[in-house]
Amino acid sequence: MVDLPANGRSAPAPQPAPPDCPFEKQYPSQLHRDDAFYMALAYNLAIDAWRKDEVPVGAVIEYGGEVIASAHNTVDSSGDPTAHAEILALTQASRHRGDWRLNGATLYVTKEPCPMCSGAAIMSRLERVVYAVSDPKMGCLGGAADLNQLPRSNHRLTLTTGVMERECRDLLQAFFRLKRARENPDG
Ligand SMILES: [Zn+2]
Repeated sequence: MVDLPANGRSAPAPQPAPPDCPFEKQYPSQLHRDDAFYMALAYNLAIDAWRKDEVPVGAVIEYGGEVIASAHNTVDSSGDPTAHAEILALTQASRHRGDWRLNGATLYVTKEPCPMCSGAAIMSRLERVVYAVSDPKMGCLGGAADLNQLPRSNHRLTLTTGVMERECRDLLQAFFRLKRARENPDG
């Protein structure tokens, strides 16, 4: 017999603490702003996501050598299935520019964009997308499908892949490994 509180509902199960993130942030030199520099910033945002128990994906948008947007995935905390790092960053960048068209800007993201985010990247007319880890399950810039190759689309993204791939892959794999272990402590 379960002991119910006075309101008749069972007490909420205690929430396990978020897993400690064993990865360190990177501190790249500001002097050399190449793809690895911006991806390191996205990686750091992914670590921030982990520390809030969100799937560790981070994104920044660069325009004219400056970061005009930075975000990480907040789907769980916001309860919003569209709160992917890329969507949040695209919205920020459009506000920053005062224009939804992001020609000339580059999105750096630690994991290949999903169908929603790949579509949003094309619709926003971004110049380039740089991603670290390809996603054969849901990636839509070459991993599982390629929205950048729609035959009649009049906008094409320039793509660069594999920047900081190992670091970003290790982060994602370790997060899911720990999460599974936490949810199934008996194996
Ligand atoms: Zn997405």
